[in-house]
Amino acid sequence: MTAPTTRLLITGGAGFIGSAYVRMLLGPEGPDDIRVTVLDKLTYAGTLTNLAGVLPDPRLTFVRGDICDAQLVDRLSAEHDQTVHFAAESHVDRSIGQARAFVMTNTLGTQTLLDAAARHRISVFVHISTDEVYGSIAQGSWTEEQPLAPSSPYSASKASADLMALAYHRTHGLDVRITRCSNNYGPHQYPEKLIPLFVTRLLDGHDVPLYGDGMSIRDWLHVEDHCRAIELVRTAGRPGTTYNIGGGAELTNKELTEYLLSACDADWTRVQHVEDRKGHDHRYSVDWTRAREELGYRPRHTFPAALARTVEWYRRNRGWWETPPS
Ligand code: NAD
Repeated sequence: MTAPTTRLLITGGAGFIGSAYVRMLLGPEGPDDIRVTVLDKLTYAGTLTNLAGVLPDPRLTFVRGDICDAQLVDRLSAEHDQTVHFAAESHVDRSIGQARAFVMTNTLGTQTLLDAAARHRISVFVHISTDEVYGSIAQGSWTEEQPLAPSSPYSASKASADLMALAYHRTHGLDVRITRCSNNYGPHQYPEKLIPLFVTRLLDGHDVPLYGDGMSIRDWLHVEDHCRAIELVRTAGRPGTTYNIGGGAELTNKELTEYLLSACDADWTRVQHVEDRKGHDHRYSVDWTRAREELGYRPRHTFPAALARTVEWYRRNRGWWETPPS
């Protein structure tokens, strides 16, 4: 007997992480009993180019639309079994000056999806969140029980969405599973985030802006490791449970800059120290024991080698970042 096909609704599947997840699902290692619908508004951060290799796949349908569009979300949720929710306004710097769009998409958009999911008995709803909801930590690492203390309008809008998702689990019995990951890196990341911004500027011969003293600390997670973790959560996670996902590569921004300069054949004369971001969290660090022990999650990529491959991808794919997405 063949397994029934799972119809997956994936929001934000034309962005950096969502498109990597779709490519993984429809690639050689993905399940063969799956159909995928990507719902994406194609904001400045999303582009169909990210899905070019899989668009001809008959198992994939693309719908351009807004997750805040309740009618559209209702119709799509009725036609699907599970939801994996990536769509978001994702850049902290933009949220400092334009917080409204973050509340609309990240909070109201998530609530719109949860509402439709509860109504149409979506069997699993995976909500992709961030370690930034915990705030900043000087020492040690956060478990999933850490109270939320977001610092930026971005992380506050994501924390609100997390709480809403958990409320739909408790109130409506919706099988919600949340992932909170550290900073992702890899190919297809819009060049406003630190790694692709620095790489593309360095490859073009420009200087790069380093915030403050460069001593902020982040953990770096390769996007493919993140996507494998999300798939473990979707297929084997527990209802109502949050999973931290880390990459095991904690670095100061200065150390990261050193790696990037060396990979791009540049030196410190190309680095401009700029005023620190308002409300900048000093350090993020997640404890991902739960994902390791319950789901067998372990990152496969090792940082220096995977970063070098990422830089090489930007070097070889100038067309992707020189032409604005459409
Ligand atoms: P991204 O900015 O690259 O992509 C976001 C996608 O969502 C884009 O394709 C965009 O068009 C789409 N989108 C935005 N608003 C929409 C709306 N209203 N309706 C439908 N689609 C909309 O983001 P990303 O880096 O791929 O992040 C994906 C998820 O992971 C987000 O929820 C983000 O908060 C979370 N996250 C990202 C990181 C990271 O390092 N990139 C770290 C932690 C958590």
